Parts: sequence; structure tokens; C-alpha cells
Amino acid sequence: MKHFDAIIIGTGQAGPSLAARFAGAGKSVAIIERGKFGGTCVNTGCIPTKTLVASAYAAHVARRGGEYGFSNGDVRVDMKRVKARKDAVSGRSNKGVEEWLRGLEHCTVIQGHARFESPRTIVVNGEVLEADEIFINAGGRATVPAMPGIQDVPFLTNSSMMDVDFLPEHLVVVGGSYVGLEFGQIYRRFGSEVTIVEKGPRLIGREDEDVSQAVREILEAEGIQFRLNAKCISLGKRERRIAVGVDCEEVAPEVLGTHVLLAVGRTPNTHDMGLERAGVAIDDRGFIIVDDQLQTSVTGIWALGDCNGRGAFTHTSYNDYEIVADNLFNADHRRVSDRITAYALYTDPPLGRCGMTDAEIRKSGRRALTAKYPMSRVSRAFEKGETQGFIKITVDAETKQILGAAILGTGGDEVIHVLLDVMYAKAPYTVIQRAMHIHPTVAEYLPTVLSKLEPFV
Ligand SMILES: Cc1cc2nc3c(=O)[nH]c(=O)nc-3n(C[C@H](O)[C@H](O)[C@H](O)COP(=O)(O)OP(=O)(O)OC[C@H]3O[C@@H](n4cnc5c(N)ncnc54)[C@H](O)[C@@H]3O)c2cc1C
Repeated sequence: MKHFDAIIIGTGQAGPSLAARFAGAGKSVAIIERGKFGGTCVNTGCIPTKTLVASAYAAHVARRGGEYGFSNGDVRVDMKRVKARKDAVSGRSNKGVEEWLRGLEHCTVIQGHARFESPRTIVVNGEVLEADEIFINAGGRATVPAMPGIQDVPFLTNSSMMDVDFLPEHLVVVGGSYVGLEFGQIYRRFGSEVTIVEKGPRLIGREDEDVSQAVREILEAEGIQFRLNAKCISLGKRERRIAVGVDCEEVAPEVLGTHVLLAVGRTPNTHDMGLERAGVAIDDRGFIIVDDQLQTSVTGIWALGDCNGRGAFTHTSYNDYEIVADNLFNADHRRVSDRITAYALYTDPPLGRCGMTDAEIRKSGRRALTAKYPMSRVSRAFEKGETQGFIKITVDAETKQILGAAILGTGGDEVIHVLLDVMYAKAPYTVIQRAMHIHPTVAEYLPTVLSKLEPFV
């Protein structure tokens, strides 16, 4: 039996950095990957989708050429070249992760499926490995719900979308949340007809209602169709088309498309790694239960990234790595509960979010002040011809600390960090009003927005 100081399962956004930390400290570490190095973000998530977002944006701007003073003829997207560009960007990161790991001294890279045999042993490729500490960074996969007709028709997920090198005539996206909206806009801009089917009464149901509404209007203006309140979604064949039964309150009971993308959430990869043999507890959705420092129910086993249900982003997974590594190597006391919610939706314009939503602020019962400012009054936005969206910031009326913000607009994914960093500093919002900002930027308007605070209701 081979013994290591540490074994890491999965090369997502936490595992490789943790392996490097162990190796750098002169400790022996084995890292096991059953699929592609770099996991979801690198191969089927953030990197390829944001590369596609960039292609779609370029096509969109080219179509608007007349507004900017140039003509570009009829803009047609060559999907084979779009895919080749995406593959090149994604492949560079995938290769980078693998080469980095293989080049680490004290690090053994193993390709294969890891299964626990006991709390300290893992079996991979028929070999038993033992370690004092084991770290699970197993990630997740697209949820494929047991909806009626799912066996009868071909469907796409975020993973199989990566192989698409043609233009679907009519893409029906099931799921009106982050992944579904990003793909919907990408393919609409490539030239597909797109319908997004959502079982809830509004898109991105976790966001504030005004955010959901504005995103819907932006996407509708580009020709995306929506079918909301689709209570009982089903799939079926109709000659050469796929029918998505929507059973919704709005108009016809089904949508006919040529391709269907399922974007209805993620399922953690925890079902096939023998967690029960190690005694690692999972919750009823399959997420590994962890404490505030990401230790599982078994001492010496940690779970990081999407598989622990404490975040579903690349930055939350990487932050998990930082928390675990700082606690183990720097005798720090970092905790998951210290982090502030932050993420972006990469539609165009993007939505940058930090802190609490309106509903959460209301539930907290605090006295708050809020301000909302249209992007159409931000000079950088109208100089760029990208005036959709708004900036909304809510602060605590007593402490003056920022409680939450949504920036839907050009640069929103970047500008949100100004607010996020002030939140981490636990500083009052008034420091933003004393800073000198650069002109012309979206960020320079934050003091203006904050000067308009009114009671939050
Ligand atoms: C379409 C899409 C777009 C996204 N866009 C963004 C974005 O813009 N920004 C953002 O922050 N997040 C985004 N995300 C989410 C982000 O990709 C994930 O949160 C991120 O990859 C974190 O994953 P992870 O570290 O938990 O593990 P993963 O990256 O999922 O990696 C887990 C790895 O473990 C391996 N593995 C699993 N089980 C075993 C086993 N038993 N043995 C060996 N290996 C195993 C898998 O093969 C995989 O490589 C997106 C996700 C999707 C689906």
C-alpha cells in the first residue's frame, strides 16, 4: 500500500492549488483525476462559456456597426471557428493545469476514478493508497431531471454543448437561471431562434424582482422568447422537431424546437466514490456536509468546492482552498461564514452581485437605505452605446455599511468589486464618497448613486 501525507480527489478549482501547497511544503501528495484536468470551469464551465460570450458579443457589436460608424455587411457566425477558438482557450488552461501538477516535486498525478475503501484509504485503478489527510474536490455535473419523455429525445447539457459546432435552428433552453440565460443569449447572438422555458414565475428567481425583470427585457429585445410558469415540463418527438411541453399559463402548451438544452441545476459528484465506506455524511441532495472550516463528518477528510454545497462558483471553490490551506499551513482561523456572497451573471450586459438580496435584507429586519441609478445616466455607458441596466446599492442605516448591491450594466462584473472590498473592510459606504475615481468609468458613479440613498421598504 502506498502512503502519502495527503490525497486529493479531483483537479477542479481547489485541488491543484492545494496539491501545490502540500508539495511546496515538502509533503508527499497524490492528486487523482478521472476526467479532464481543470474540471468544470476549465473544460465545460466558466472558461469555454465566457469564450463563447466573447464571440457572441463580437457578433452583436458587428451587427450594430452602423451605430458606431462602420459597415460590416451581413454578419454570419462560423460555428466551427467559434468552437475552435473556444477549444483553444479552454485547452490552454486544461494543459496548463496538467503540466503544472506533473511538474510539482513530491506530487504524484494519477488518472483514474477514486473510491474510498476506509476513512484513510482510497482505491484507484485497482491500487490502494493511504493518507493521513484526504481532500475531496469532486465537483458536480448537470442535473438531468426525470421529466416525462427524457428517454425519448436527445438533449444537450452544458458539457455536450461544448461539442456543438453547428448552429441549432431553434434552441429551447429548459431553465431560466444563470447557465440557461448565458447560453440563451450566446446562441441568439450566433443566429439561432431561442426559447427559454422556466418553471418559476420569473427568471433568475434568486435575484431581486427588478433585476429579473430588467434581464428579461434586455434578452427579449434581442428576440429571445420566454415561457414562464412552465409547471410540468416534458419532452417529446414531433417528426424532425423536439417538443418541450410547458403546461404553462401563457399561450400554447408546447414549444417546438430543433435542440433542447437542459440547464436546471447541478448535482454533486458524490454518489460513486464510496463515501459511505469512509463514513462521510451527505445531505439529502448529495452534498457533503462540512463544518465552517470545511472538514467533513470524518476527522481528516475535507470537502472543497461545489461538492460541499457551500458555493457553486470557481471563486468559492478557490476560496475553500485558501481557507483549508491557511488553517492547515498558517495556523489561521479562516471560516466559510466569513465570506461575502459575490458572483456575476455573464449575460451582456453582465450582472455583478455582492451581499444580500432585497428579500434577505427585508427578512433581516434591519433599517436600511437604498439607491438605484440607471446606466443610461452613466457617461461611460452612453459613450460605449451600452446603456441598459442599473446600479442598486443598499446600506445599513445605522452602521453605514454596505449590505448588498446589484450592478446590471456594462462593466458590472468588475465595478462590483469596489463595493465588495469596502464590505470586507467593514468600512462605511462614505469612504467611497471621499475617494477620487477615474473618469470616464462606471465606478466613478458610485458616489453619485450613494448620494441618493432613501429609506428601503
Ligand atoms: C456552464 C457553466 C458556466 C459556469 N460559469 C461560471 C463562471 O462564469 N464563474 C464562476 O465562478 N463559476 C462558473 N461556473 C461554476 C464553476 O464552473 C464551478 O463552480 C467550478 O468549476 C468549481 O468546481 P469544483 O472545484 O468544485 O470542481 P470541478 O471543477 O467540478 O472539478 C471536479 C473534478 O473532480 C473530478 N472527479 C469527480 N469525482 C472523481 C472521482 N471519484 N475520482 C477522480 N476524480 C473525480 C472530475 O472529473 C472533475 O474534473 C459555471 C458552471 C457551468 C456549468
